[in-house]
Amino acid sequence: MRIILIGPPGAGKGTQCQRLAGLLGVPHLSTGEMLRAAVREGTPAGVQAARYMSQGQLVPDPLIVGMVSARLQEPDCRGGCLLDGFPRTLPQAATLDDLLERRAISVDGVIELAVPRDELVRRMLARGRADDDPDIFARRIMSFEEQTAPLLDYYARQGKLASVDGLGNADEIFARVTRAIERFARRARQPEQ
Ligand code: ADP
Repeated sequence: MRIILIGPPGAGKGTQCQRLAGLLGVPHLSTGEMLRAAVREGTPAGVQAARYMSQGQLVPDPLIVGMVSARLQEPDCRGGCLLDGFPRTLPQAATLDDLLERRAISVDGVIELAVPRDELVRRMLARGRADDDPDIFARRIMSFEEQTAPLLDYYARQGKLASVDGLGNADEIFARVTRAIERFARRARQPEQ
């Protein structure tokens, strides 16, 4: 299955994707992790990305699209994958649809992890990543609201969106996420309904 998780910074996408990857036996593709690895390794893409990431801004679409399209062509993605942090803009979503369509495959479902802003701030303060400075974090929330939230409507129109309450402990949220995946799987078996 090809599943996308969408949620604001601190919503818990990474945690849920790690568990789901184990359950579904497909790789977890986190663009945040890919970019942080590129920054650590000092690759040209990493050097370019670091300027945006440290400011809480999205990196330019061509940079991230290049990385993801290369990764999606690796053999372990043949049976599906979990996309965490991509797509994050409407142009990225359209590019992903094109990339998959050329291989006669598509996204099976999109899960929104919904978490109110005050809870996101609380989690960010507890986590303490380098780009988790309060001002930068506020900018990341803003870029989510302005650039990524429109994707919810994009996928809802395709009938692919499931919104999941991201409040509670990781086990409770995982139970909700797996129920959404089961609905996607049923729909994939009965596409006419
Ligand atoms: P979070 O969702 O907690 O903000 P991520 O680890 O997913 O964190 O991403 C960290 C940073 O990496 C983002 O703030 C952004 O700068 C960059 N990034 C990750 N994915 C994308 C993407 N698809 N498009 C543009 N920038 C991205």
